[in-house]
Amino acid sequence: MNRIPVMIPWMAEAEAEAVADTVRSGWVAQGPRVAAFETAFAARVKTQAAVAVSNCTTGLHLALVLAGIEAGDEVIVPSLSFIATANVVRHQRAVPVFVDVELSTQNLTPATIEPALTSRTRAVIAVHQGGIPLDLDPLRAFCAERNLVLIEDAACAVGSTYQGRPIGSGATYAAFSFHPRKLLTTGEGGMLVTDDLDVAARGRRLREHGMDLSAAARHASTTVALESYTEVGFNYRMTDLQAALGLVQLGRLEAMIARRRELAARYQEALSALPGLVTATDPVYGTTNFQSFWVLLPDSFPLSRDDVLQHLLDHGISARRGIMAAHREPAYAGHPHRPLPVTERLTDRSLILPLFHQLTTSDQDRVIDTLLGLSPVSARRTPAASTTRGNP
Ligand SMILES: *Cc1c(COP(=O)(O)O)cnc(C)c1O
Repeated sequence: MNRIPVMIPWMAEAEAEAVADTVRSGWVAQGPRVAAFETAFAARVKTQAAVAVSNCTTGLHLALVLAGIEAGDEVIVPSLSFIATANVVRHQRAVPVFVDVELSTQNLTPATIEPALTSRTRAVIAVHQGGIPLDLDPLRAFCAERNLVLIEDAACAVGSTYQGRPIGSGATYAAFSFHPRKLLTTGEGGMLVTDDLDVAARGRRLREHGMDLSAAARHASTTVALESYTEVGFNYRMTDLQAALGLVQLGRLEAMIARRRELAARYQEALSALPGLVTATDPVYGTTNFQSFWVLLPDSFPLSRDDVLQHLLDHGISARRGIMAAHREPAYAGHPHRPLPVTERLTDRSLILPLFHQLTTSDQDRVIDTLLGLSPVSARRTPAASTTRGNP
């Protein structure tokens, strides 16, 4: 019995060739391929500018620096997120303030933010969790009215849409991840996108040690060009090796999303046999790329989340716990926070099922049948049930 992984990236010969070509070109650090990847990415997510960075975490940190967030400022974040969302606030010596999320999207909303506002609140890092888009219009209006900086953690959300527009569009700060656990991968990598060209220009300097002239620009110059360092920056650069990979990956995005949405619809239909099970789904205002397909076990479910994960593993299926809650981790022990009931319910009772481009429907049926077999109510489903759709 083959082991079904929770996720594998979709890469092929074209990616290998693109990286090999880059090696042969002799230019492997940030250079022409990074510039080309930025242009292509900005066009795809319909934003004015894209600044490639070493990963999404550095992209989020850069956004905080660009937004002028300083030591002691309060930044609202969901606890229910990969821990980097909260950590970047600490990197800036600012204070992460955890707020709860709305259950069906796992995203924060104005209603969950409001009770946590203080006179020191300066920014909100809102996450398009697992690819499900935030309800951006009300959130942007809420932040604008209160003079709060809105930073979108779009790590998982490449190709997701809000009111027909791609995530990233219309943002002053939105950061994407190209870690292999997301849709597009460059091994490690990230992209900060913005509609503000001044933000982009300063972002390009800050990711490169605060240098006012990039290495590529100096290389291209026909006269002696001396750089200067305008402020203290970082080395948050992406390499041309990564960008070469990213350019090929970007060409696969539509196919990746289409396949994921097809597989997600199969999960949704089959798992509707489990009474009370909540699954990841499109919100009314947009579409998800299904970076993660999560299910929330009903209270009546006879097994714990961990027992379900173990049962799946015993049947050769790798699933994962749902989104983590940062406030539960030792790194945040003693960090004060408001009650987070929805966050705790989601993190305790949800799990992420295998979903990736190459997942076959027969392997997916194995996941479905194994899961349905655990429920007393749905145990009547036969292994062939997925092919008997439409039969009386
Ligand atoms: C993956 C992820 C990150 C971190 O991305 P990296 O590219 O690995 O730094 C941040 N936020 C969220 C919500 C993520 O899922």
